[in-house]
Amino acid sequence: MAFFKKFGEKLRTIFKSRKIDEEFFDELEDTLIEGDLGSRLTDEIVETLRKEAKENKLTEATELQEKMKQILSRYVKPYEFSFDDKLAVWMILGVNGVGKTTTIAKMAKYFTKRGQRVLLAAGDTFRAAAVDQLEIHANRLSMRIVKQSTGSDPGAVIFDAITSAIAQKDTLVLADTAGRMHNKENLMKELKKMDKIIKAKNIAPDHYKKFLVIDATTGQNGLSQAMLFDEAVKLDGVILTKYDSAAKGGALVQIGKLLSLPIVFVCTGEGYDDIKPFDKEEYLDSLMGLSD
Ligand code: GDP
Repeated sequence: MAFFKKFGEKLRTIFKSRKIDEEFFDELEDTLIEGDLGSRLTDEIVETLRKEAKENKLTEATELQEKMKQILSRYVKPYEFSFDDKLAVWMILGVNGVGKTTTIAKMAKYFTKRGQRVLLAAGDTFRAAAVDQLEIHANRLSMRIVKQSTGSDPGAVIFDAITSAIAQKDTLVLADTAGRMHNKENLMKELKKMDKIIKAKNIAPDHYKKFLVIDATTGQNGLSQAMLFDEAVKLDGVILTKYDSAAKGGALVQIGKLLSLPIVFVCTGEGYDDIKPFDKEEYLDSLMGLSD
C-alpha cells in the first residue's frame, strides 16, 4: 500500500525521463523542502547527488534515485521490540489529539494477540474524557485497566498498575499519560516521579520505555514535539498515527537524523487492527513514489 501519494508522485516525476541539470536539482530541492525534509537534510541530499552525478559522469536523473533512497535509508530505523517473562512498562506520551488513546488500544490488541499479558493504565488523570475513552476501548477489547478518579496523581495510577500487573503475572503495562502540551520542566518533574516508582517496583531499567505518539499529518510540528519530549525525558522511540491521511512523510527522516530515534509502529486508520510495526522499505518506497 502506498502512502504520501501526492508527494511520492511528485518525487517520482522529478526523477523520470529527464537529464540531470540545474533545473533538476532546483526542482528536487523545492520538493524536498515542501515534503518536510528540512533544509539541512535537503542540502545534504542535493549535494550528495550532485557529487555522485559528477564523479560517475551520470546524465539521467533516474540513475540518482537509488542513491537518494540510500541517503534516506541511513536515517530511518525500526524499533526492535522483544519481551521476556519480566514485566515491561511502556509510557505512551504525546500531545492531545494525536491519537494516543486509540494507539494504546491498538497496541494492547496487537500484543495480546501475540501472547503478551497486557494491562492498561489510565495515567492521563487530568481529563475525565481520557480515562473514560481508554475504559471504553478496554471494555470493547476485554482488556484489564487500572484507573483512578480525575485529578488524582498519575504516579499513583502507575504504582497501582504495576502492583496489579506483578500480581497477575502480566508482561506489559501500557500507560497513558497527560496529553496537555507540556513544558520541559513539567515533563521532567513528572518523569522523575515515574522513575522513582519504576525503581521502587524493581522494573528492570531496560524494560521501562518511553514512546512518543506523533500525528503524521502535522509534519514539522511532529518534529518539534519529538525534539521537546526527547530533550525532556529521553525517548526510546516514536509511534506514528494517521499515516493514512498524511500527504507527505519527510519529517520522519528528520526525526531519525536529528534525534536518532527508531520508529515503533505506524497507524493507518481508526480501526483496532490499523497498526503495524514500522517497515523501512515500505516507507522509503512510499516516500519516493516507488511503490504501486
Ligand atoms: P488523543 O487525544 O491523543 O488520545 O487522541 P485520540 O486517540 O482520541 O484520537 C483522536 C482522533 O484521531 C480520533 O478521532 C481517532 O479515531 C483518530 N485517529 C487515531 N489514530 C488514527 C489513525 O491512525 N488514522 C486516522 N485516520 N485517524 C486516527
